[in-house]
Amino acid sequence: MKGLFPTSKFQNMKTPFYYYDVDILQKTLDTVKQEAGKYTNFCVHYAVKANANPKVLKIISNSGLGIDCVSGGEIKAALAAGVAPEKIVYAGVGKSDWEINLGLDNNIFCFNVESIPELEIINELAEAKDKKAKVCFRINPNVGAHTHANITTGLAENKFGIAMEDMEIVIGKAAEMKNIEFLGLHFHIGSQILEMDDFVALSNRINELQDRLESHGFICKHINVGGGLGIDYQQPNENPIPNFADYFKTYADNLKLREGQYLHFELGRSIVAQCGSLITKTLYVKQGSFKQFCIVDAGMTDLIRPALYDAFHLIENISSEEAMETYDVVGPICESSDVFVKGFELNKCHRGDLIALRSAGAYGEIMASAYNCRELPVGYISTEF
Ligand SMILES: *Cc1c(COP(=O)(O)O)cnc(C)c1O
Repeated sequence: MKGLFPTSKFQNMKTPFYYYDVDILQKTLDTVKQEAGKYTNFCVHYAVKANANPKVLKIISNSGLGIDCVSGGEIKAALAAGVAPEKIVYAGVGKSDWEINLGLDNNIFCFNVESIPELEIINELAEAKDKKAKVCFRINPNVGAHTHANITTGLAENKFGIAMEDMEIVIGKAAEMKNIEFLGLHFHIGSQILEMDDFVALSNRINELQDRLESHGFICKHINVGGGLGIDYQQPNENPIPNFADYFKTYADNLKLREGQYLHFELGRSIVAQCGSLITKTLYVKQGSFKQFCIVDAGMTDLIRPALYDAFHLIENISSEEAMETYDVVGPICESSDVFVKGFELNKCHRGDLIALRSAGAYGEIMASAYNCRELPVGYISTEF
């Protein structure tokens, strides 16, 4: 089965472009809310860095989820989409002064702080505004995730977070600062994680850390476990909605939440990946000496994941029902890594055929660049057709 696209309506459009299926996005949001809603005090934030298309963000904002930002620009995008500032959490290993000030001016819910120097600056900037900044500390739990090396973030060797051994020192410092309010702990171990055991390992670590903190008299009102839930890139038609039921249950079963404590999640990919496709046009079918190439007008500038992470995206020829043939699907960029897939079966391709690269709603449009002086791809939602 192929994805359901209004192919005839795509015919005269400028390619490449992103297409977001609003039904899939809405079903995903409904499922997230339903599954998280089974547990008291579970708060889900959407990680804007996965996709900040204003039309997509508006739909997510309307669903009532909170928002996780990693830059001042993302805070602005969230506010522009109508997100309430008290639902915004802000993480990032290098926050600039203007970004911190933007968060303070808007009274965002929480800064996820990653170092003592950063804490000192937030305290100073908050003092200048006579405000109290609410903070969680991002702790590096030294928990590995079974995913691509470039998207693990919770190992001691990664640049993210505060080392576990420094946790009490940092919280002690925060307690002495007049313009800081300590809320709790934050974690994020990586992305595209499909093994629930990785989330069990994180839960076990958090249980240990909470026991340790309580023995020092520190109480966390909030725990934030970050995001990372993976999706099925191989079979987007069969599995359009990620397994949120198992995901939330894993935390409910393993993380020992204290009475009245809130558990926060920051999900990016799992919310937006499956609703998006990159639609591109076949420019040429070229016969090489060992293989044939389907040369399309989208490149790594439009979707960089295959070049950057060796990522797989299912590819479909949505203009042809002819017999399958084997192709390398490649873009026009002057880089050998500008290849979407090698040796892949597609319905026979012709010049002008529309090709869909599936599961591209996360880390697709938002990572597009103008390399080779290319225009950025436009994103449309299905209700615009
Ligand atoms: C990227 C990121 C997320 C979202 O990760 P996904 O794998 O897309 O769910 C959540 N929290 C933080 C701090 C991040 O950097």
